[in-house]
Amino acid sequence: MKKVTLLIPVHNEEATLSMLYGRLLDLTNRHSNYEWEILFINDGSSDHTLDLIRQLRQTDKRVNYVNLSRNFGKEIAMLAGFDYTTGDCCVIMDADLQDPPELVDKMLQYWEEGYDDIYAKRRNRGDESWLRRRLSLAFYGILQKMSRIDILPNVGDFRLLDRRCVIALRHMREHERYTKGLFCWIGYNKKGIEFDRGDRLAGQSSWGFFKLLNLAIEGITSSTTSPLRIATICGMLFATTSFFYALYFLVKTILYGDQTAGFPTLIVVILFLGGVQLFSLGIIGEYVGRIFKETKGRPAYLASDYNENKLGYEE
Ligand code: UDP
Ligand code: MG
Repeated sequence: MKKVTLLIPVHNEEATLSMLYGRLLDLTNRHSNYEWEILFINDGSSDHTLDLIRQLRQTDKRVNYVNLSRNFGKEIAMLAGFDYTTGDCCVIMDADLQDPPELVDKMLQYWEEGYDDIYAKRRNRGDESWLRRRLSLAFYGILQKMSRIDILPNVGDFRLLDRRCVIALRHMREHERYTKGLFCWIGYNKKGIEFDRGDRLAGQSSWGFFKLLNLAIEGITSSTTSPLRIATICGMLFATTSFFYALYFLVKTILYGDQTAGFPTLIVVILFLGGVQLFSLGIIGEYVGRIFKETKGRPAYLASDYNENKLGYEE
């Protein structure tokens, strides 16, 4: 019998958990020809989420959980999930039921047909604000232009991954993760299915504006180094322009004499170039920072419990 893992990162989801479990039960009952694992990754919740998961496990041994030692963020929580899944395939899902479990029926169907990565594509974006939608589209546009791999807009983490994709993702241990980019990087047979993303059932989205901005920067700097190239090109452009500008002044002074005007031009050019330089330094800094973080060679996360077992970090 093939085994399907439902991988669910949870962070302060006590309000939705029992509802989610109910819907998952429906799902697993519909497909009793598979063996099921429901794997919760508790990402440092500060409410009763972990207690609720433990209760679920007492009555249902298909429920497994990994408890991380603190909040590491969803991207890292998913990596932990890849490390602990035991299924022949793995479905990544949000705990807030924005990803309808009913869609898994179709995913399983495509999986049986031989697809490795069946992703859900949002037809709408739920109750997101106009600004957030616009910003998100702009971000994908920029990312698409900068990196050579296709990163699909309106596709989240909700997807079914064959075991070989999971193994591939397990080997990608970078800390600053942009998992959406990684899904695209690994390739394999992909298939998209469309769905309507609903609104969050209860509780609060953990993604504020700055968290999203960080994710956007992470997305770009972890998928491509083209900002460095752009900085280089800008530098070359400004250097050549200023060379000709200087030439122009030289000729003008020789022909007409010097009138010592142009303070506004001067200050504008200085400030503009100062800005461009700081921006470029910042870009370089982003990459140097990433190098710094990765060279420390720390584990990406620490898990403190796997089901009833306490874990330490060994290797
Ligand atoms: N999540 C997590 N760690 C975090 C933030 C979120 O594991 O630091 C989980 C959360 O419990 C949920 C999923 O990631 O299952 C998506 O989170 P959320 O609904 O807040 O994101 P959104 O739907 O707004 O993108
Ligand atoms: Mg959500």
